[in-house]
Order: sequence, then structure tokens, then C-alpha cells
Amino acid sequence: MKKRVAVIGAGPSGLAQLRAFQSAAAKGAEIPEVVCFEKQANWGGLWNYSWRTGLDQYGEPVHGSMYRYLWSNGPKEGLEFADYSFEEHFGKQIASYPPRAVLFDYIEGRVKKAGVRDWIRFENVVRLVEWDESRKKFTVTVQDLPNDHCYSEEFDHVIVASGHFSTPNVPEFPGFERFNGRIVHAHDFRDAREFAGKDVLLVGTSYSSEDIGSQCWKYGAKSITNTYRSAPMGFKWPDNWEEKPNMKRVDGNTVTFGDGTTKKIDAIILCTGYKHHFPFLPDDLRLKTANRLATADLYKGVVFVNNPALFYLGMQDQWFTFNMFDAQAWWVRDAIMGRLQVPADKAALVADVEDRVAREDAGKDTHDAIQYQGDYVKELIAETDYPSFDVDGACEIFFEWKEHKKKDIMGFRNNCYRSVITGTMAPVHHTPWKDALDDTMESYLQN
Ligand SMILES: Cc1cc2nc3c(=O)[nH]c(=O)nc-3n(C[C@H](O)[C@H](O)[C@H](O)COP(=O)(O)OP(=O)(O)OC[C@H]3O[C@@H](n4cnc5c(N)ncnc54)[C@H](O)[C@@H]3O)c2cc1C
Repeated sequence: MKKRVAVIGAGPSGLAQLRAFQSAAAKGAEIPEVVCFEKQANWGGLWNYSWRTGLDQYGEPVHGSMYRYLWSNGPKEGLEFADYSFEEHFGKQIASYPPRAVLFDYIEGRVKKAGVRDWIRFENVVRLVEWDESRKKFTVTVQDLPNDHCYSEEFDHVIVASGHFSTPNVPEFPGFERFNGRIVHAHDFRDAREFAGKDVLLVGTSYSSEDIGSQCWKYGAKSITNTYRSAPMGFKWPDNWEEKPNMKRVDGNTVTFGDGTTKKIDAIILCTGYKHHFPFLPDDLRLKTANRLATADLYKGVVFVNNPALFYLGMQDQWFTFNMFDAQAWWVRDAIMGRLQVPADKAALVADVEDRVAREDAGKDTHDAIQYQGDYVKELIAETDYPSFDVDGACEIFFEWKEHKKKDIMGFRNNCYRSVITGTMAPVHHTPWKDALDDTMESYLQN
């Protein structure tokens, strides 16, 4: 009997897993039977844009947190697949900060070429995963949404690739219930044009805060205010943009900040992060971790220490994304196929996690954090046949990117970088980011 493997989610992580198995099969290896469950009607995870917010047509929480006009927030040269370059996909080198639709097309191109779409059961949401210790099997219970039918199947391994930027962390501030305007979490933000002409307050100093603020500014908001808990982001913002210490309270439309100053605000966007949330996993299988580079309880960042038949992909906070998911997926594939040995002794698994946590904690700044994650990617790819690439070169690109942001936060996306996969320099985009209001693929790919 072939082993059976369940992959939960067909976003970039889950798709990396399918491509990893398919690439082994293409080289003649006998691979397990792989079944991927995806609750949405299409693949791509967060990159599969949905206008919906709240609940979907089946009453499921909407997974999407991306918005219109979203452009990559880091250089594409930092995330390029080592086995499928941008040049291979587009037939030419393209500029360094593609909009969402362009990256969706790129993600899709690799898996279309691999021919793995029929491994995926779309609109099938995983409801429950259970482990039978005596039989060493998982039972996965799934709901086929269009047919409103629940069923269960057995698997030898489960790989959780359900993402962790979909369940919003929503704080409350005094006076919110009487605020005379819109309060929305970043998860439900879809279109900056809604905020044109408005005084917008963004809570938090995350990527969402910086990027949604930038979108609102670009599409005509009257003013942007960001609040911070410990320190401001500190970029050289445009004149109508300021940072303020955390909000104390709201009275009508007036917000009082930590320094005692006040401001009239039309809309509040909570950029207050996301929770790792796995409603389909019981206590003994559920990962409980902070959003950090060295997650809790994952040996090599992927094997669940309390049950090594269970794997998680992409649960780290992310500098590296698509290529890190690949490094993980190839490694997990080889662990499942017995090409790599996971220590049988739980103490060894836990010691590996502790070591990773200590090494992350020893880092001083974002430079160290980027290098830490780059070293992790290198560690994993050295142990599999994933095509090796210049990971340190990719780290250098991230360091440059940080500098470009410091220099010009509204212009950093006009820079270009050299691919570490093909060695080709990206062209300068035809329009500076702040003037490029059309985010379609056709517009982006014009020479
Ligand atoms: C607003 C925003 C902007 C971002 N911008 C960038 C960027 O510019 N560059 C970058 O590299 N990264 C960016 N990211 C990071 C992003 O996390 C990764 O690029 C990537 O999407 C993570 O892939 P994933 O497969 O791990 O998770 P996801 O993309 O979240 O995919 C998970 C999949 O699992 C499915 N799923 C969930 N639960 C179930 C279930 N119970 N049953 C079946 N299916 C399920 C979901 O429907 C989804 O398709 C951004 C994230 C956000 C939120």
C-alpha cells in the first residue's frame, strides 16, 4: 500500500509541497499518494484575490487579506523559485516589485507546468484532523462545500499549509463603540479609493500599516496618521503623514494620542496583526506559536515535535517566502519518503527548537534576522535536491531593499535588482510606483 499524504491548503506553501513531490516523480521516484484540500475555489492562497470580506458564500471565514493595487512589498529577486525563474515564466526579465496579479500568474505558472491541479480538491474545507496512536494514522474530516457533504479519509501524514495571515488580531480602544466612522481590520481592507479625501488613522507599525497607509496616500487620502506602541517606523513620510504614540481613546471623531494631542479622524484601520489559528486541529496536534522566525515546537521549522508524522509549512514570520516554502517542502517530502531521518528521540527534536530560538534571540536587528532566515533556507536546501542558489546574494538584496526604504519610502519600489537565479538585472519599471495607478498585469508587463 502506498503511503497517503494530506496537504491542507493550496497557497504558495501547499503548492510548493505538490511541486516537490511531482519533481521527485518526474525523476522516476515512487511517491506517496498526495491529496491537497483547499477551501477556496482556486489556488494561490492569499494571492488569489477576493473582493469578499467576513464570510464567503458558504458561510466560511474569507481567507483573503490582500487588497487591490497591492504590489510586492519586497523585491521579487528575494522570493524567486530556484526551479522556475521569472524569465522562464514571462519570457523576459521583469521589474522588481510586481503587483499581486503578476505574482499570482507566476505562482500559477509553475504548478500548471507541473500538472498537479488534479491533486487538489477545491472548495473542500478540512474540519478536523485526528491521530490514532495505535494505528499510526490520521483521520481527516472534510466538508465538500458545494455539495454540502462531509466525509473522512485516512492518511499517514498531514502537512498543514493553511497560512497564518488570515485570522485578525483585533484590539479594542476606549470609545470605539461610539466612533462616528468606519473601523476596519487590515484583513478586511480591500480598496484604498474608499478613503480618498479622508483623514485615516492606522493602528500599528506592521507591514500592513506601512503599506495600507501608502496605498491610501497614493489614492488620495487627505492625511495619514500611524500610531505606535514602542517606537515609530521612522521613515521620511510625505508632508500629510505623521506618526503618533498609541491612541488613548476616541470621542466621536476625535482621537486622543499617548502624548495628549488630538486629531479629527474619519476612518480607523487596525493593522494589528494576525493569529496562528487552526480551528481544525485538536489540542494535541495544534501549533501554538508567536509570529517569529524560530517557531515554537517545530523541529527544523517543519516537524511537529509532539507528533513527527505531522508537518507545518510557512508558519514562520517571513523575510523569505516562496523560496523558503520550497526549501521546507522539499525537506518534508524527503522526510516522508525516508530520504532524511527525523530523530526518534523527542528530546533531540526539542533541543533543535531551543537552539533555533536561542540563535534568533541572539540577533540584534533586522539585518541579523534576514541573515538568520537566509541561513535556515541554506540549511534545508543543502539536505535535498532543491536547486541550490545564492541565498547570501538574496540576503544582500534584502539589505539593499531596507536601505532603499530608509532613503525613500514612497519610491523604494522604483529600484531594481539582479536575479540570483539567472544573473539578469531587472529593468526599471516604466512608471514610478506612486504614479502607477493601474495594477493590471497587462500594464505592468508593457515595455
Ligand atoms: C496583506 C499581505 C501582503 C503580503 N505581501 C507579500 C509580499 O509582497 N511578498 C511576499 O513574499 N509575501 C507577502 N505576504 C506573505 C504571504 O504570507 C505569503 O506570500 C504566502 O501567501 C504564504 O503562503 P501560505 O501558502 O503559507 O499561506 P496562504 O497564502 O495563506 O495560503 C493558505 C491556503 O490554505 C487554505 N486553507 C486554510 N484553511 C483551510 C482549511 N481548513 N481547509 C482547506 N484549506 C484551507 C486557504 O484557503 C489558502 O488557500 C503578504 C501577506 C499579506 C497578508
